[in-house]
Amino acid sequence: MDPRIEIRQGDITHMQVDVIVNAANHTLLGGGGVDGAIHRAAGPRLLASCATLGGCATGEAKITDGYRLPARYVIHTVGPVWHGGRQREDEHLAACYRHSLALAAHHTLTSIAFPAISTGVYRFPLEGATRIALRETNAFLATDSSLQQVIFVCFDARTFEVYRRVAASFSEQLP
Ligand code: ADP
Repeated sequence: MDPRIEIRQGDITHMQVDVIVNAANHTLLGGGGVDGAIHRAAGPRLLASCATLGGCATGEAKITDGYRLPARYVIHTVGPVWHGGRQREDEHLAACYRHSLALAAHHTLTSIAFPAISTGVYRFPLEGATRIALRETNAFLATDSSLQQVIFVCFDARTFEVYRRVAASFSEQLP
């Protein structure tokens, strides 16, 4: 695992980083879960800003200010809904991580925090989603020197345990 990657348990809306990632839906007009929490914490100007973006396709990412959040920016990405794994869910989830990291690097941001995209209401199996998140981030960091810190923020104990276990298994495999 790249040493710039950290796994923490907590609430992403409290993170003092350059940018937090939102697991949004196509409309970008707010929803439940982490999306609802981010909009509540950022205040109504976030919704107004999202309303100008024209939505977002699955696997893509768009950036706004963070308004009342401690984070300066929010990257909104749309994870795939799990339909059993035969609708390119893996590919779309990988694209969420790649596009979010590339957008952060493009804006020369140095610290980013991710939630466990698609693993809530969108029902993507947690272990597979965690492997994709860590694999894509490791691969991206190997080609990038602008990002200094990538935090995976696990909201509940089960997610935290799975991230730690998958990260440990990655470290065993890599030299
Ligand atoms: P999705 O629709 O992409 O599945 P959800 O918001 O339903 O998104 O869930 C994604 C993950 O975000 C889940 O692990 C959920 O527990 C977690 N989550 C919910 N609220 C927060 C929060 N405030 N901070 C970090 N993670 C959160």
